[in-house]
Amino acid sequence: MSIEIEELRRIYKDLIVSIKNPRPLPNLKIEFYPYVGINNRIRLRDDLIHVKISDLLRDAPIELHHALAEILLRKLYRKRVPASVSQIFQDYIKQTEIRQKSIETRKTRGRKILRGSEGTHYDLAEIFNLLNQIYFEGKIPKPTLTWSNTNTSRILGHHDSAHNSITISKSLDDNRVPRFVVECVMFHEMLHIKHPTKYINGRRYSHTPAFRQDEKEFAFFEESEAWIEKHWAEFSKGKKKVKGKKGFLQRLLDF
Ligand SMILES: [Zn+2]
Repeated sequence: MSIEIEELRRIYKDLIVSIKNPRPLPNLKIEFYPYVGINNRIRLRDDLIHVKISDLLRDAPIELHHALAEILLRKLYRKRVPASVSQIFQDYIKQTEIRQKSIETRKTRGRKILRGSEGTHYDLAEIFNLLNQIYFEGKIPKPTLTWSNTNTSRILGHHDSAHNSITISKSLDDNRVPRFVVECVMFHEMLHIKHPTKYINGRRYSHTPAFRQDEKEFAFFEESEAWIEKHWAEFSKGKKKVKGKKGFLQRLLDF
């Protein structure tokens, strides 16, 4: 069960009064924020105290939020933080990190577990969000984003409308692959969400003229194509030789 913002406001307000009791009382803005790791920030500007709490603590017990509020506010007002209060916080963080680690270990051990959006080099969620802002006004609803389980060098991306998912070939999660190539594949799959497959007289139309028109908007399409044509052979070792040709990227994208 997640703690309510209203409940947090009450905790912070009471503590502001008991620690400093400034006149007038500052306004208060509290929000959860998707920091990487457990990070919490507080800032006082003009008459607004802005608190950003790591969303990893959304489900933390109220005692933890109380301790965190005391730590943040005492730091803000330059007061000493009692050792007992920091202890509550430290203990909880340690536990959480251990739990987090065991989840990660389970992920790497269990082969059947779907790989998440975070790869070794590229985070699909981050790429999706960025492209969504730049090219789609943030209007594409976020599907499940996963890396493929195997190194598929002949299909780079796939959108599955039944499962509402985009899968990107794990072979692209490689520091030798430029980011714009991964973005290019993601952009193509996102267009499949924007332009759902049409069926006319029993025939499927996925890459409609409107789709192809939009596809040209990606700023690095030509660069991606050139890079794939030049380098892709290195990534398909042991498989049927993939020779770079003009329009090659198009063929590697889903059909
Ligand atoms: Zn396609």
